[in-house]
Order: sequence, then structure tokens, then C-alpha cells
Amino acid sequence: MIPYGRQDISQADIEAVQAVLASDWLTQGPNVPRFEEAVASRCRVEHAVAVNSATSALHISCLALGVQAGDRIWTSPNTFVASANCGLYIGATVDFVDIDPHTYCMSVGALKAKLETSQAAGTLPKVVIPVHFAGASCEMKEIKQLSKKYGFRIIEDASHAIGGAYRDVPVGSCEYSDITVFSFHPVKMITTGEGGMALTNDPSLNARMTLLRSHGIVRDSSLMDQSPDGDWYYQQIELGYNYRITDLQAALGASQLERLDQFVSYRSDIAQRYDRAFQGLEIATQQIPDYTRSSRHLYVVRLSADRLRARRKEIFDAMRAAGIGVNVHYIPVHTQPHYRKLGFKPGDFPEAERYYSEAISLPIHCRLSASDQEFVIRTLGELIG
Ligand SMILES: *Cc1c(COP(=O)(O)O)cnc(C)c1O
Repeated sequence: MIPYGRQDISQADIEAVQAVLASDWLTQGPNVPRFEEAVASRCRVEHAVAVNSATSALHISCLALGVQAGDRIWTSPNTFVASANCGLYIGATVDFVDIDPHTYCMSVGALKAKLETSQAAGTLPKVVIPVHFAGASCEMKEIKQLSKKYGFRIIEDASHAIGGAYRDVPVGSCEYSDITVFSFHPVKMITTGEGGMALTNDPSLNARMTLLRSHGIVRDSSLMDQSPDGDWYYQQIELGYNYRITDLQAALGASQLERLDQFVSYRSDIAQRYDRAFQGLEIATQQIPDYTRSSRHLYVVRLSADRLRARRKEIFDAMRAAGIGVNVHYIPVHTQPHYRKLGFKPGDFPEAERYYSEAISLPIHCRLSASDQEFVIRTLGELIG
């Protein structure tokens, strides 16, 4: 099976992990801050907090921003469930803003309209979490302007988008947000096995996230309410978690990061070949506005012609039967049983639902050969005629 996404591990990556295995520290050693500094410097941001997943990063981001039970958070329905679950962990109320039918990201128009009605109803969100779908940034400048007008904070879910850019700054710079989150799951742009990171320019958010990552424990006596009993002493000053990443993972991440530009460029070439091959066919692809350079995490084709829409499952099954590991990103989060239990229903976010019924993700990753890509193109071409 040709997978839709997969990791690319080099000999240098393997050696970086082996070096940690032979060292004194498997966790909480020198590689975690090294990896954090490397990502922060690349993204031109002040602080980076590495954790064991993007899901954890989203959770501590919400906590650091002061989200509490009963507060509201909004995200896109066209995302992985984790973008919304971070609010539920805290007892917040989660709601969604429908997508733009061309960029497949949160629609700024829909956001504006929902903010206006929510202001009248007194139900404004505390945090909005735009998702940079497939690696293309949302229109952050406009979202930032709305955040000033309506008083919400912004977490960018950039799980797809490390290596991408927005208006000439790297995704992760937090120029238009409070916090940006990356994922290092193996199908994402770079991997640590499992892993994630939260980036910010705000020193107090950095301090809160660092505290929450490791049990709420401090060893710095200036943060304690009494002088230390001795050198062994630490204090737990609030309730945190064990969301730490290991040194093994951080060493892999730092090594992978050195090839991020290569990864983006390899994926961009694949995307361009797909774009060319599909010209003239009755399929739509994601519109990537001039304000963003996509990392090209995913390549989605949309069977929007009536003739093809009805055949999405048949085409998907035939691709799988041919050995092509196509996938679908994403099942709208509000249609998941857990969210239906909370009161959402099909029809609530029609653009995301229509998009879902037409989408197929094609293979795009750094181990996809030109001949395998040719095979994908030929197979899809034959199926849609
Ligand atoms: C992968 C992903 C996550 C979760 O990442 P993990 O590192 O697996 O926790 C969250 N949001 C989006 C958009 C993702 O694609």
C-alpha cells in the first residue's frame, strides 16, 4: 500500500537517537532545550515548550490562557478532534465556525457573523483556534483584528504547518496569535514519534505552560512560599501534568528539523505535479491564497461535480483496492457521536459537511517516488474518466 503520509528517517536521525541512548539522560536532558531553541529560532518566536503531543500542547495552551469551565472556545469543524477536545478537557463549551469552501480553513466571514450574533447574545468566545488546514495558513491578520474588537485570544493549531509561512513570516512566529501549536506525529511535517510544541512571545504564557507540562512543580526558590528545606526540595504550586517529551524524541526532532526545508520542497514538487495532472479534470483542489506558503502536509482532491460526488466512496474503495492508501481529512468534528451528545447535529456546519462528502486525500510525503505518484495520477484519472 502506498501510504497517504509517512515519516522520512535518515541515518543521521538514527544516529542522533542512538547518541542519546548512550548518554546519561533519556529525559529532561540537554536535547529538549536544544530542540526548543532550534524551532523557536527557525520560527522567529521568543519561547517554545516541547511536550509529548500537540493534543497536550493545545490543552496547556488553553489552561495558560485562563480558559475555565463554562468559558467558550471556537475552532474549525474541518480538523482532527484534538483541536476541539482541548476545550472539553477543561469543561469549556466548544463551538465551531464553518469553513471557506475554497481554502477549507475557518471562514473569516462566518467568524465575523458568528461574533456579531454572539456579542448580542452575550456568548462571545474566550479563545478561537484557527486550524491551518493541510499546511496553508488561515487569514491571521483579519482574525487578529477581530480578536481586538471582540476580546478573544488566539491559539493557532499549526499541526500541519511547520515549514509554512504567512505574509513573509514563518508559521509559528505568533505575530498574529498568543500561542502556536505544532504536532510531530509521524504523518506530520517532521516527527518525534509522538510529540508537539507550543510557541509564544509572551514570557508569562511560556512560564505557565512550562509549569503545567511538569506537574506544576518548581525548583526555583523565588517561586516558593517558603525557603527550601534543602537541596532536594521542590514545591508543587498548582495542578499540572506529565506532558514531557523525552530526550530521545527531542534529538530526533532536532535532527529532522534540519531537513524541514527539503521536506517542504519535495512535497511542493509533488503538489505541483498533481496540480498539472488534474488540470481539465472535474475536480477541485485547495485554493492557497497569496498570503500563505503552504507546507503541503496534505493534498486533497474534491469531487465537486455532481457526476463524481455520488461516487466518492466507490472511487475511494477502488483506489485502496489498487494499493493506494488514500484517506479522508476530516470527518466534521461536530458530527462525531461525542459531539452529537453535546447537542450538535448534521446540518450545523454545511460547508464542512459538503466538503467532507467530496474529499479524498492523495499520497504526499517524502518517500513517495515519481513512479508511485504517476500510478496514483493514472489510477484516479481512469476512475473519474
Ligand atoms: C495531528 C493533529 C493534532 C493532534 O496532534 P498529536 O500530536 O497527535 O496530538 C491536532 N490538530 C490537528 C489539526 C492535527 O492534524
